[in-house]
Amino acid sequence: MSEANLLTDESLTDKRICGLSWQRTLQQAVRDIDELAGLLEIPVARLRSAACDSSGFPLLVPRGYVARMNKRDLHDPLLLQVLPRTAENVDATGFSDDPLREQDIADDGVIRKYHGRALLIASGACPVHCRYCFRRAFPYARQLASRHDWERAIGKLRRAGDISEVILSGGDPLNVSNRRLEALFDALETIESVRCIRIHTRFPIMIPERVDNGLLALLERSSAKIVIVVHCNHANELDSGVEAALRTLSGPADLLLNQSVLLSGINDDVETLAELSRRLLHCGVLPYYLHTLDPVTGTAHFQVDDARARALLCGLRSELPGYLVPKLVREVPGELSKTPL
Ligand code: SF4
Repeated sequence: MSEANLLTDESLTDKRICGLSWQRTLQQAVRDIDELAGLLEIPVARLRSAACDSSGFPLLVPRGYVARMNKRDLHDPLLLQVLPRTAENVDATGFSDDPLREQDIADDGVIRKYHGRALLIASGACPVHCRYCFRRAFPYARQLASRHDWERAIGKLRRAGDISEVILSGGDPLNVSNRRLEALFDALETIESVRCIRIHTRFPIMIPERVDNGLLALLERSSAKIVIVVHCNHANELDSGVEAALRTLSGPADLLLNQSVLLSGINDDVETLAELSRRLLHCGVLPYYLHTLDPVTGTAHFQVDDARARALLCGLRSELPGYLVPKLVREVPGELSKTPL
């Protein structure tokens, strides 16, 4: 994953809901283990000995997210999502670089898995490097829909004739500037079959400044239905700044949902998951999916076994009203929908 296009001038002139522009916030993200240790008041030697060399997928975490971590806690659930740990070097059976076999079916940044829907790889960059990411080895350099100014991807979607929903994914699609997103939305809206644009993004959680006036205006103007699916795994990720951004987003969005990944040592207990659902509701977001881990190389230490995952779901059902219980699912390559556990 690269950090391309961090600074684009048109967004720097946008009026923001929170001071700094999102590009500047991203530019100032933490990339150095020693600096992270200092911010968290953890002895450098302790954090270094827990960390691994991760040059292909380096540490990247926004300062606002670091500020939500507990100081002096090596097991903080937010820290564990972003810290490259020595466990990533374990070569586990069944884990591979392309667990969902997307790399063979991606074409000009378009991936078709399910009926009537297509996924468009809008950006290869993210506001954070989540250690469990299933696309951490995705070949973004040759599979970006933006590479040819969206043209080839749009042509493909138009020719398909049956795409009613386009899912903007990545990387993170909100890494694209508002001006380029606007061009993409305009092009998508010329495709007769497209009724809905869905955005999968972790930006509002990581860098809430990304929900700026330019983005809101763009979403409001769209003639398509707008579904936004954010990605949050733990209630501690949802501070007041994130809550304000999510509440603002729920204006132009027709639906605002969350998807989480079930991660060992981070959110694999009933009370943590229940609290996440309650906090999401407070922010105006409905829990949608709780995904089992996709078995990508270097992530086996995050895996929760199926029996435990099912037990957690049962526990959640007894704690929460049905609308706050996410669907526990696994993605199986080649299946025509997600597989419920
Ligand atoms: S934001 Fe999403 S795509 Fe980016 S590293 Fe995290 S999980 Fe992967």
